[in-house]
Amino acid sequence: MPEHTTNPAQLTDLTLLGLGAMGSALTTALLDAGRSVTVWNRTPERAAESVARGARAAGSVREAVIASPVVVACLLKYPSVRETLDPVADALRGRTLLNLTTTTPNESRRLAAWAADHGIDYLDGAVMAVPAMIGSGDGQIFYSGSRAVYDALRPTLDLWAAPEYHGADAGQAALVDLAMLSGMYQMFVGFLHGAAMVATTGMSAAGFAARQAPFLAAMTQELAGYAKVVDGGDYTVPGQQSLDFSDLTPLVRASEEQGVDAGPIAAVQERIARQIAAGHGSDGLARIYETLRAARAEEGNAA
Ligand code: NDP
Repeated sequence: MPEHTTNPAQLTDLTLLGLGAMGSALTTALLDAGRSVTVWNRTPERAAESVARGARAAGSVREAVIASPVVVACLLKYPSVRETLDPVADALRGRTLLNLTTTTPNESRRLAAWAADHGIDYLDGAVMAVPAMIGSGDGQIFYSGSRAVYDALRPTLDLWAAPEYHGADAGQAALVDLAMLSGMYQMFVGFLHGAAMVATTGMSAAGFAARQAPFLAAMTQELAGYAKVVDGGDYTVPGQQSLDFSDLTPLVRASEEQGVDAGPIAAVQERIARQIAAGHGSDGLARIYETLRAARAEEGNAA
């Protein structure tokens, strides 16, 4: 797993497959740091900007793969990675593959197993940044899979965003990434739901955002307290907001009365109601964590 080109037959330090918004940003950061980079993109015209910055364009995936000891895939989804890499598995043998395409944990594990079967050193990565943050000192990228690859590539990984290694399970980086995004998207949907409610009486989304943003920022201070209860496993610890107090029926009704889809908040209320019905009304709101994590077991029991 050489960090820099050692074999004269290899033309560049790294190869980037995929020059979308993220792949292009990753390439730019490498070029700015003086690394030599071969690039390939399914739509060749999209490589023009990277080539103008000094990248070497390859005419095929195979040509791109054999140009460097380290190959980075930043494509769209798991199928595009397999479509692109399956035909060149033989050329990847003995090289390092870093997958920065967003994949599910099991897809990352499948890629790691596929790589192992073909003698390819594999590291999986999950980008917690938008393209503008790459190389700016902001943002994080989570990694999991081969520790040896992570250590060897560390000087390169440092060029993109703060790296964080999450262990040998190749699916772990993707799992943490998607869990983080789950929280983010539910927050965005919560905001949009509230914006739709107040719009019925004329408040603009901008007006609502100006009020919602500082409120949500203050509420994030509560996360550590919820985490302490969940990790401790005792939902009766005094000082928590109880499930009975957290009955969200008025929120659901208000949404319905205004003619706004109550689905997002009704989904939360349904989980609260399930815990109250099970006799836990005086326990803390954090107890709905038990409903969420029990879903798999409940599915299994129902099957
Ligand atoms: P873009 O839509 O800008 O680019 C997608 C890239 O994938 C293009 O290079 C596209 O090629 C290529 N591609 C799509 N389908 C195929 C296929 N079947 N075969 C070969 N190439 C294919 O996406 P981004 O660059 O923004 O994202 C790339 C990855 O990075 C995604 O997995 C995304 O989830 C992840 N990511 C992106 C972030 C962002 O803010 N943009 C943030 C965090 C992660 P072509 O040009 O030919 O269409």
